[in-house]
Amino acid sequence: MRFLNLTRNLEIGANCYALDIGGKRVVLDCGLHPRMEGLDALPNLTAIPDGSVDAIILSHGHQDHVGAIPVLMRRHPGAILFSTEPTRQIGDVMLHNSVNVMLRMREEAGIADYPLFTHREADLAGKRWQVVPLHKRWSFDGERLGANEDAPLSFEFYDAGHILGSAGTMIRGEGRKIFYTGDVNFDDQTISSAAGFPEEPLDVLIVETTRGDHETAPGFTRAGEEQRLAGALSRAFQRGGAVLIPVFALGKTQELLAMLINMQRRGLMPNGLPVYIGGLSAKLTEIYDKLAGQWPRQYPGIHLMDGAAPFVVNGRDIVELPMKRGRIYALTSGMMSEHTLSNIFASRMLSEPVQSLFFIGYADPNSPGGRIRDAAAGAQVRLDPDQPAQPLRCDVEIFNFSAHASRESIRAWVNRVTPKKIVLVHGDPPAIEWFRQAFKADLPNSEVILPTPGESLEL
Ligand SMILES: [Zn+2]
Ligand SMILES: [Zn+2]
Repeated sequence: MRFLNLTRNLEIGANCYALDIGGKRVVLDCGLHPRMEGLDALPNLTAIPDGSVDAIILSHGHQDHVGAIPVLMRRHPGAILFSTEPTRQIGDVMLHNSVNVMLRMREEAGIADYPLFTHREADLAGKRWQVVPLHKRWSFDGERLGANEDAPLSFEFYDAGHILGSAGTMIRGEGRKIFYTGDVNFDDQTISSAAGFPEEPLDVLIVETTRGDHETAPGFTRAGEEQRLAGALSRAFQRGGAVLIPVFALGKTQELLAMLINMQRRGLMPNGLPVYIGGLSAKLTEIYDKLAGQWPRQYPGIHLMDGAAPFVVNGRDIVELPMKRGRIYALTSGMMSEHTLSNIFASRMLSEPVQSLFFIGYADPNSPGGRIRDAAAGAQVRLDPDQPAQPLRCDVEIFNFSAHASRESIRAWVNRVTPKKIVLVHGDPPAIEWFRQAFKADLPNSEVILPTPGESLEL
């Protein structure tokens, strides 16, 4: 069995890994780097010969896991794409949206490589896309296997608790069990319920390490954090301001809407609280609503679009969108990247002490959102290299509603499944280093592997 890391660096970045097992070549995820532009955002797809991939497994619909799928499919037209049903529906929306974004970037920023693929290629990927339910064994040829049927090679999805449709994959082949976590959360969020991963001994584990550099604060609970957010929103409104919450369109937006509905039900927020979201967020929220009864989640009876009744904003409206007291603007992107709704809207509020900016998720330290999070009050900050810097005078608060497992919960699960080999992926260097040391101490007989990009490893 061989493993090849197709990312360009050991970092959170884009995700893409090739596994050669039982005579098949399987690619795990194929994302775009959220901070890179043009061809640099792609994984290192030239490291494997064209036409050599048999199957592609998608863990979930976030851009850093699905964003480069049509490019991979162009190189490997015979490959079959496997995911859960929500990931197929979400992935389709994400890929077409990505074409639109790239066409706009080509025009606005002059990036000649864009679009990296076309709407037609996104549709073509859909034609080779097979949906696989949770807890069913499947062959990489696309056949469903009986529970006890003998098969030299198979895979099976387990709920990963990260966003709607997210799944970890168990691959059984060459007499061994290999598990790929994708992005995972072992705790309940507001909508997503905790992962249901296998609890049996593993031979090889490929595990995400996103939060390895974050210690969970003593006494931290999600319920407590929701209470803190409700209090901060009330204070912001009493001051007479509006609140901007930069969010990812997928996952964080829906979790926030569910939180706001719950706050209204419990009388912590006024009924009819006005909330604004972007067009992509609205499309994805509709998928959450449509599949509410078909995927493990909490509050399956809450219909997010009806319950929160958000106003939908598009790119053309954003410049003129009124900023009014008592309103929540839950706008993409979560990292406040240049030319996005949250970045443009923030440029109008950063130097206004009455306004508030709340972070509820991850922002790369080098993104505009990350720089604002780290800036001192009053410091000069720049949202866009083409705009002048301005003093940071609005109220900035940071909340922890991560969709990723705490490092403590990943460590505890890994100690229960005692993999003989542990491959650390999807984390920045300090995060990976924490897990390396933790697993070396906990499991001295296991091999902990940091997979150098481009270097084929025998596992
Ligand atoms: Zn994710
Ligand atoms: Zn991810």
